Amino acid sequence: MSLIKKRKNTTDKPLIIAGPCSAETEEQMLETASRIDPDFVQIFRAGIWKPRTKPNSFEGVGEPGLKWLQKVKRQYGFNTAVEVANAKHVELALDNEVDVLWIGARTTVNPFTVQEIADALSGTEKTIVVKNPVNPDLELWIGAVERLSARNIKNIAAIHRGFSTYKKTKYRNNPQWQIAFDFMNRLPEIPILCDPSHICGKRDGIAEVAQLAFNFEYDGLMIETHHNPDCALSDAQQQVSPERLSEILKGLKVRKSDDEDAIYHANLQRLRGEIDETDQSILDAISQRMSISAQIGELKKEHNVAIFQNERWSQIRNQAIEKGAELGLSEEFIDMLLKAIHQESINHQNLIMNQRQLSLE
Ligand code: PEP
Ligand code: MN
Repeated sequence: MSLIKKRKNTTDKPLIIAGPCSAETEEQMLETASRIDPDFVQIFRAGIWKPRTKPNSFEGVGEPGLKWLQKVKRQYGFNTAVEVANAKHVELALDNEVDVLWIGARTTVNPFTVQEIADALSGTEKTIVVKNPVNPDLELWIGAVERLSARNIKNIAAIHRGFSTYKKTKYRNNPQWQIAFDFMNRLPEIPILCDPSHICGKRDGIAEVAQLAFNFEYDGLMIETHHNPDCALSDAQQQVSPERLSEILKGLKVRKSDDEDAIYHANLQRLRGEIDETDQSILDAISQRMSISAQIGELKKEHNVAIFQNERWSQIRNQAIEKGAELGLSEEFIDMLLKAIHQESINHQNLIMNQRQLSLE
């Protein structure tokens, strides 16, 4: 039976996995577990083998940590979860009665390793969780789930922990929520949790991101907690004390997926109608912009002028960002929108140039 299920009703409690980023000592594990509120948290996590960006960082305690997890289970009754990154980890985790095994973001990117793990887990009844890959590639995430399913693994769940970016944002890993929504859409039966700790990278913002996840109907959360967060050997900045964790969890509002109320439904219908109309006019306006851009393409061709004009592009972009700010639209959004529109315009103009080119040949 899966330990992580899709929430069907509002009365279903969200599933919470919590525990330290890394197992460090037996005392740290037991002390942390003793202070976690079992009314909210069902599964205790701890990293035993840690994938670190740079060498010479703390790389996990390895096998002895699995015994400490067993003690946590016996003394405090939590189910347990660890990250596995190869077949040997799987074997040791299974030998030590770990309940939930998760594939980390750095492993999901590698199909060879995911396949090795899927083979080692073949036919298991355990719950296996796939974190999104570090890069924003939906197919890779889905592919990892498919590799597990193909090995007759039935209890699969996913964790959304955000995506790496070169450009620093306010997040450690940019959530790019749309990718998770696409995942839910493609695999509606797979429960999905959010990991606000790895999205935020710092304590601030964890509560806010966790609330967003509930607003978006996630099935639960994975949050890092440590008895003495400032002294943690990995991810110190993003770990919260067990007491702060309880506070965060108590403060979250779990949303329902629907409401029977007739006035609510009537209002929703009306607003959705307005959204549909607005979307239609956005598409009409974009289509009109493309036909103007096609005329410019003709003009440029006649005068043998290059399609891409850097100065003009900067002007369009700056103008839009300024107007957007007045309208309460973020620079990030305007930048993305304008780039997409500009690319489509260039494609249209290229088509015109090439058609003419072909007819001249
Ligand atoms: C972790 O959960 O501690 C971890 C290493 O996460 P991720 O794979 O999301 O980086
Ligand atoms: Mn971590």
